[in-house]
Amino acid sequence: MARNTSFACDNIVPMRIADVQEDIDYELISSEEIHTIIAKAAAQVSKDYQGKNPLLVAVLKGAINTLAAFSQELSIPCQLDFMSLSSYGSGTTSTGTITVRQDLSTDVRGRHILIVEDIVDSGRTLAWLVEELKRRGAASVEIFALLEKPARREVDVDIKYPGKEIPDEFVVGFGLDYDERYRNLDSIAVLKPKVYQGEQA
Ligand code: 5GP
Repeated sequence: MARNTSFACDNIVPMRIADVQEDIDYELISSEEIHTIIAKAAAQVSKDYQGKNPLLVAVLKGAINTLAAFSQELSIPCQLDFMSLSSYGSGTTSTGTITVRQDLSTDVRGRHILIVEDIVDSGRTLAWLVEELKRRGAASVEIFALLEKPARREVDVDIKYPGKEIPDEFVVGFGLDYDERYRNLDSIAVLKPKVYQGEQA
């Protein structure tokens, strides 16, 4: 089957949903729509952060694709940094406790921070991170979130640059994983419950 490829290498084609079709219920957001959402937010951020040299902070690993795509759409200088937080294990629900596994390498004092997030579920991770960055002395802390699940929200977090609201389904792709799989899909898809509940589901 002929497919679009990013690079013209013989016999090398990027993994797509068709390659993991047995695990996927349906595609929720196409690659084109993801990039449209990101470009719109980046255009607004480029206006709002003129002359501020924002520090874009992404929570590993799920937000790396979003951060990469978002930063490339910005028309202003920015810096990038990463944090690894654990709120989920290998399952699909939050453990509720957040711990820092890998910290930022940047001193955030006096910096304008934009958190670039893949998905807001309960909101606990972001609520914790916003408070933590303010506690460290950031001049401002705002959020761009590619996806939000309003039905799952437990904690109020102000998302200045919202992406797209999605239903209460477990999604993978564009950086989002289940048990470290599916991150390199270029679109976002709903995973079949049997994948995380066992074959009997
Ligand atoms: P929260 O603290 O808002 O409950 O959880 C946010 C984090 O949970 C996200 O950054 C992401 O890592 C993970 N998460 C929440 N919902 C999903 C989902 O549908 N799919 C995947 N792969 N991760 C999710």
